[in-house]
Amino acid sequence: MINIVLFGPPGSGKGTQAKNLVQKFNLKQISTGELFRENMSNETELGLLAKSFIDVGQLVPDHITIDMLIDELKKPTDTQGFIFDGFPRTRQQAIALDDIVRQHLAAEISVCLSLIVEDEVLVERLIERGATSGRTDDSDELIIRNRIKEYYAKTAEVADIYKEQNKYVEVNGVGEIDAIAENLYRAVESIEG
Ligand code: ADP
Repeated sequence: MINIVLFGPPGSGKGTQAKNLVQKFNLKQISTGELFRENMSNETELGLLAKSFIDVGQLVPDHITIDMLIDELKKPTDTQGFIFDGFPRTRQQAIALDDIVRQHLAAEISVCLSLIVEDEVLVERLIERGATSGRTDDSDELIIRNRIKEYYAKTAEVADIYKEQNKYVEVNGVGEIDAIAENLYRAVESIEG
């Protein structure tokens, strides 16, 4: 089983590259951002709660996010492994993920692939995406900058956890989408030996 954490700031291309990795290695993508957006568009209780954080560019509280992830992992699947896209985003989520993967999948996180993109490129990409995505959190530069601030305040340190476990690989997230994908594939193949 391969279990990949796809890591990086908002706008670094996690969603795009998760889809490439799914195809290449036959994995199931779990995107907490997409799960929240599904709940928001269905106006579920979880969606309404999440919306109050997402619309101002804050992280949704850990317990809510972790419970949602566990529910998703309990769904039956015959996948070869998972890609966690946008999770973990805090130290507490990272610790929880280790436990969850052990308990529910009897497996481990194989690797954390980290997409590196500089801040001003992120802001540019997110503003551009906002023009067509319809995402409220992409619609305003102040909200976008707040998300990047949240990333540095709460998420960036998650990298250290995977570095300590020798599971952290950085990949340049700027360039042709296909070239970035190739670099990600190589990183996965190298850990598979
Ligand atoms: P992006 O990577 O562009 O920020 P996502 O779709 O991953 O987009 O996330 C959108 C929003 O959903 C985040 O700004 C945050 O408010 C919320 N969210 C997603 N994943 C998490 C998480 N693991 N913990 C807390 N909040 C999350």
